[in-house]
Amino acid sequence: MALMSSFDGIIEEIPGIAVDNFEHRHLDSRAFFLSHYHMDHVQGLDTTELADSLKKTKAFIYTSEITAIIINHVMKGSKILKYVKPLGRETTLITLPGKPNKQLKRLFVEVTLIPAGHSFGSTMFLFKTTEKTVLYTGDFRIRINDISKYGKLHKNNEPINIDAMYVDTTFLREKYEDFAKRSDTADTVIDEIEKWLKKDKNNGVSIYMYANYTFEFILNKIYQRLKMKVYINDYKWEFYRNILHLVPSVTNDPNETKLHLCSNKYESENHYKCFTRFHAKRSYLHIHLTAQKWSDYKIDQSPISRKSEKCFDACFSTHCSRNEILHFVAYFNPSKIIGFPNEYVQPDDNSDEEFVLTPKKSSKRKRRNDDI
Ligand SMILES: [Zn+2]
Ligand SMILES: [Zn+2]
Repeated sequence: MALMSSFDGIIEEIPGIAVDNFEHRHLDSRAFFLSHYHMDHVQGLDTTELADSLKKTKAFIYTSEITAIIINHVMKGSKILKYVKPLGRETTLITLPGKPNKQLKRLFVEVTLIPAGHSFGSTMFLFKTTEKTVLYTGDFRIRINDISKYGKLHKNNEPINIDAMYVDTTFLREKYEDFAKRSDTADTVIDEIEKWLKKDKNNGVSIYMYANYTFEFILNKIYQRLKMKVYINDYKWEFYRNILHLVPSVTNDPNETKLHLCSNKYESENHYKCFTRFHAKRSYLHIHLTAQKWSDYKIDQSPISRKSEKCFDACFSTHCSRNEILHFVAYFNPSKIIGFPNEYVQPDDNSDEEFVLTPKKSSKRKRRNDDI
């Protein structure tokens, strides 16, 4: 069953390309871009009609190096693989051929990848033509205090000028005002794991995550602190074994660890499927990493919420909170803002003054006036 695409694929300023959308209507695009491998961003990618069309048009699918590895793993043997072009850290100049039948002139586009902090390999795309600068965030999570660290989004320590921003609004609703910082959540989760394992030598830990290729950060953190890897199944191992330099925290040897990546959403289920028979007899602490359940989270609240002695939810959002979205947009103050999957609604200036007045932004405004 096909999922709904998060984004309609269209960047108005750069006609004839498709971003995070490979559906029928985009078949003869001049270039495709994929920000990360999550199902709502790859609709249509695995179809023969796309493969046939790429063969004809010679268009490429541009993505990050890690996402390219993921595609090669998930779509093994697919005809589209040879059209996947990983882009590195350097800005790439792409020539989009003219299409007279569609009144499209040849167009040169500079593309820069910027880490999106959402999932493994996720990237934003900064597009520049001679006329416009466009930022497509893809799904992203950048904390307010971290924006200024993004060198490619700054010039002479000032935010770059962005004409159009296509921005992830997954958690724009007011009830998602804040989320815990992911490294704080990781620290608390690791403390709990440590306590549980110390209690009894037969104790084990099962970690449930709602998406693939998303939580490598927390697995690496666990490994760093506890020197303990997380068991993953054969299918996942086939992917990770090739990139152990990036994700050294996983293992396919059940005897090496008491932690496993769990396929059960609920603690009551047994672990025969996800771990071996022997380990299935352990007493498990079940950890559910999620963002959805954390509406109305207050920043001084604990990032975990216990359901029982053996089970808790941990706040781990891979999308910006409402505050983070509003701040990000206000920081760059683009002339045009398109939200996805929800419409971007500018907050009322009176009620949300803190987003409107940031020192960076006011200095940017001044500079702009000087330029004129
Ligand atoms: Zn995603
Ligand atoms: Zn399990």
